Amino acid sequence: MERPPRQGRDEQDAGKEPDCPLTRYRSLFVQRGDAYGRQRNWSRLYYRVRSPLTDEVLTKHLRGEVTIGLYSLDPSGTTRWTVMDSDRGLGPIVGAQADLAKRGIPSYLESSRAGGHLWTFWDKPVSPTIARRIIEPSAPNLECFPAGDIPDLDGYGLLIRAPLGIHRFSGRRYPFIHPSGEPVSTGKVRGQIDWLAQNVRRVDPAPHAAQLPILPTAGEHPVYGPKNTEQSPIRQWVEEHPIRDVIERYVRLNKAGVGRCPWGENHKHGDKHPSFTVYERTQRWWCFAERRGGNGFDFLAQYHHLTPSELLRKIRNGSY
Ligand SMILES: [Zn+2]
Repeated sequence: MERPPRQGRDEQDAGKEPDCPLTRYRSLFVQRGDAYGRQRNWSRLYYRVRSPLTDEVLTKHLRGEVTIGLYSLDPSGTTRWTVMDSDRGLGPIVGAQADLAKRGIPSYLESSRAGGHLWTFWDKPVSPTIARRIIEPSAPNLECFPAGDIPDLDGYGLLIRAPLGIHRFSGRRYPFIHPSGEPVSTGKVRGQIDWLAQNVRRVDPAPHAAQLPILPTAGEHPVYGPKNTEQSPIRQWVEEHPIRDVIERYVRLNKAGVGRCPWGENHKHGDKHPSFTVYERTQRWWCFAERRGGNGFDFLAQYHHLTPSELLRKIRNGSY
């Protein structure tokens, strides 16, 4: 849609306009305003902040003073976007973008520390499982989320770095880019938001969902509703123990976080081609052969055949 020219616009007035950059940024990326993640300094890890994501916080993020992460589900467990993640360069997602385009699904490339993210925006809230199944055929072997079939005990969905801020670990900004790698705009924040506001086309998931093969739901885990887990000791343990440190005590991982699944006996042919991956950014693991995953706590519990409360007791006794 054509926007009227704005002349003599003062940067400080921006926050007062109905279509100010923050409003546009929210409408694209923010799914819930009651909690967000905050990235620790010099780290890739986030901790959860259980207070409103105010304009002030967003502004600080866009200025690079803090770095926040956004939860991928809204409070009713649905999503307005799906993101595909490549931590092995841009190649795989540029290919996926071209394939999605052929299917009539526009998507938008954002560069990242190790590769990039490919965003698809839905024109209505959609189940994360359905959305992922729409996207996945174009994304062989890439991680797509939110993923409704990965257990998510508190209903927030995985955290993704909020676009256009500064990564606390690398100290860099990662713009939206063209497939050539060129940023879509010269402006680092405002220009990027303007470009997105003018160019993003949202996709109606319904016709794509209608074409999906019907799968049995037995193997899928429900997306749990939000629970009051304010004091959850498990979550606290997860936030304090980087997943790679936890899992590397049991599984040898390469630089990209890939290793042999410790549950190879569950696979058809063992785990000859390593199918177990640890994602440091999301602090999750995933086995591509078994199509299951979790956080570091889930891993330990399953590895040692313990229930969550048994594992918690052992952790408190200093066993792990
Ligand atoms: Zn496995």
